[in-house]
Amino acid sequence: MSRVFNFSAGPSCLPEEVLKECAAEMLDCNGTGQSVMEMSHRSAAFEPIIAHAESQVRKLMKVPQNYKVLFLQGGGSTQFAMVAQNLAIHSGKAAYIQTGVWAKKAAAEAKKLGVKVDIVASSEDKNYSYIPRVEKISGEYDYAYICFNNTIMGTHYEYIPETGNIPLVADISSCVLSEELDVSKFGLLFAGAQKNLAPAGVTLVIIREDLISEKTLEGTPTMLSYKTHADADSMYNTPPCYTIYVLGKVLDWIERNGGAAGMQKRNAEKAKLLYDYLDSSDFYHATAEVGSRSLMNVPFLTKYSAGAKDEASVAKENEINKKFVAQAAATGLVNLAGHRLVGGMRASIYNAMPIEGVKALVDFMEKFAKENS
Ligand SMILES: *Cc1c(COP(=O)(O)O)cnc(C)c1O
Repeated sequence: MSRVFNFSAGPSCLPEEVLKECAAEMLDCNGTGQSVMEMSHRSAAFEPIIAHAESQVRKLMKVPQNYKVLFLQGGGSTQFAMVAQNLAIHSGKAAYIQTGVWAKKAAAEAKKLGVKVDIVASSEDKNYSYIPRVEKISGEYDYAYICFNNTIMGTHYEYIPETGNIPLVADISSCVLSEELDVSKFGLLFAGAQKNLAPAGVTLVIIREDLISEKTLEGTPTMLSYKTHADADSMYNTPPCYTIYVLGKVLDWIERNGGAAGMQKRNAEKAKLLYDYLDSSDFYHATAEVGSRSLMNVPFLTKYSAGAKDEASVAKENEINKKFVAQAAATGLVNLAGHRLVGGMRASIYNAMPIEGVKALVDFMEKFAKENS
């Protein structure tokens, strides 16, 4: 059996070491004679597993004392509603920066819940290929919201907007622990696990304690109140036990590899290899603008996507893209199809993607360009 290099945007590759550890402990974890999948979440066997995951999040992300770390369910998408239901409780107004699909979905969800949403900046004018520069957000907002890494558009903030007393909320689903991040600059951070942390099923929430309130928007279910989960240490109901277990192991792997700083160095090296090649090629080009480029998700087009929208050009473009994705898969480089909103291809090169995978991709791209120029 040989493993492929998996460039999926999510769920995505996990460190092989972690998968092997999980396999070795599948039938008997820590001498309990049980798989973690079979353990009661309230047992003495599981208690240290969730405690370890939390302490590793705190250590690796340098989470300040006055923040709670929560393990929730419902994915990043449930946070779009939860943020609004729990934070829009004073003025009922919130500021959103619109940088693509995920930021738009979050704003739409807040609106649906009756929040007055102000889009204070947007990069829609250029198909979200850059991050707008917003020096300061001020006003009577209950929170300001950003999507820190835009998985589909391949863009990432290279700065943190200044919001003064307004709590800043950031969706870090696709960049969590890919780099160093000053948690104290944010009121709330959240990340669905399946991009950079663990298999799908757990959502990490880091929330400043003063934002956890009994008060929520009217009609908010118990399960969607942060207070419910904070008071119960993420054990109000059955948590996603196995995913939390794998999360702890991925965090140990991150620690062994230099922590957030180590990941950042490794990721910068990987991304540079790919962007340098894209920028030097006359066959391919990256879609995200310099100064806004994600280290995690790299969408790119070929010269056949030059913008001509007549039927023949579009057909040629689709044919080349399909050929690229199929031939890459045949050489063990899988899940490279682009998102339909950007077109072309997308390589997601999360923490667990080794540099060898990126080197293999660039080699394949060179060969493909030669054969199809
Ligand atoms: C994948 C993703 C989401 C959605 O996550 P789900 O867990 O599928 O709900 C939200 N935001 C970003 C930035 C993502 O990449």
